[in-house]
Amino acid sequence: MNALTATNRNFRYAARILGLDSKLERSLLIPFREIKVECSIPKDDGSLATFVGFRIQHDNARGPMKGGIRYHPEVDPDEVNALAQLMTWKTAVAAIPYGGAKGGIGCNPRELSMSELERLTRVFTQKIHDLIGIHRDVPAPDMGTNSQTMAWILDEYSKFHGHSPAVVTGKPIDLGGSLGREAATGLGVFFATEALLAEHGKSISNMKFAIQGFGNVGSWAAKFFHEHGGKVVAVSDITGGNAMDLNDLLVHECDVLVPCALGGVLNKENAADVKAKFIIEAANHPTDPEADEILSKKGVVILPDIYANSGGVTVSYFEWVQNIQGFMWEEEKVNHELKRYMMSAFKDIKTMCQTHNCNLRMGAFTLGVNRVAQATLLRGWE
Ligand code: GLU
Repeated sequence: MNALTATNRNFRYAARILGLDSKLERSLLIPFREIKVECSIPKDDGSLATFVGFRIQHDNARGPMKGGIRYHPEVDPDEVNALAQLMTWKTAVAAIPYGGAKGGIGCNPRELSMSELERLTRVFTQKIHDLIGIHRDVPAPDMGTNSQTMAWILDEYSKFHGHSPAVVTGKPIDLGGSLGREAATGLGVFFATEALLAEHGKSISNMKFAIQGFGNVGSWAAKFFHEHGGKVVAVSDITGGNAMDLNDLLVHECDVLVPCALGGVLNKENAADVKAKFIIEAANHPTDPEADEILSKKGVVILPDIYANSGGVTVSYFEWVQNIQGFMWEEEKVNHELKRYMMSAFKDIKTMCQTHNCNLRMGAFTLGVNRVAQATLLRGWE
């Protein structure tokens, strides 16, 4: 199922549980603004290459819009739209004062040189600099981008607006990045998993983990699971698997399956064969709604993306706060605060599950959607 159809379906289901007015529902669903730009750059060999870039700003009722920029061949408007919407609910679940946005460029960063990537990032920034900003929309890394990409955006943006470190997060430490940001999504996944397992009378120690995607999120999560006695029994990445191929990994014998890469990897083709008892959605929308249904019938407990991977954007918030304060936190403080936010969101989700007698995905969606709906109503439309 298309990512946007799937995300809209989850949203509508949550809106129904909450009994939201249909007009408010429509206003929450339609993005605040959709930007599509042409990005042409000279390649190193002198030829011209043209790419299409997007920034979809979904909602700003709770604060500046926030979300990553993805460089990937499959970036398309529907996918970015779904990811932008997920950011709105994610920041609300995390209780950080942001809305949601997402951007991307349809390109294969592995086929571009460093200088081509730099030119592409600068051209993209030139086209969107008027529409982002410290109190408007704050980009961050996502798949295919990293702290270097953020450094180029910061530099290009600052040419127009003066030095503005808080305009992006996930920056290099030397440019105002936060200690702990690199590991934050993986560490958040670890705290979230710990909270979920504790609920089921279990702990990380001796549980078997299968990890799909060994980039920034998967590799840090694996490290934290391993350090706490978890057995990482399988890993795979984009190059086809250190150990095995993607589909074999998803149905591998394990207790906890952690998809950390692309969306839609768990679908109606493979859901019935999943052996894990717990799925931690470290990726954004890894589980198709059809797979969701099959898995819940099997009794698999799924910790949803908008909570499980919210550690990244939460520490992005700490980075932005540090930039605005002009005061750098110690890594210990960053990690301590992250744990506090992750625990508190888990408790809030459980309360929603009890109130509405629903699963964790709907607990998280109703929590996020309700917070955004309340903010929207308080602000009014006049
Ligand atoms: N790209 C990450 C996400 O999907 C982080 C976004 C951010 O830090 O703004 O949540």
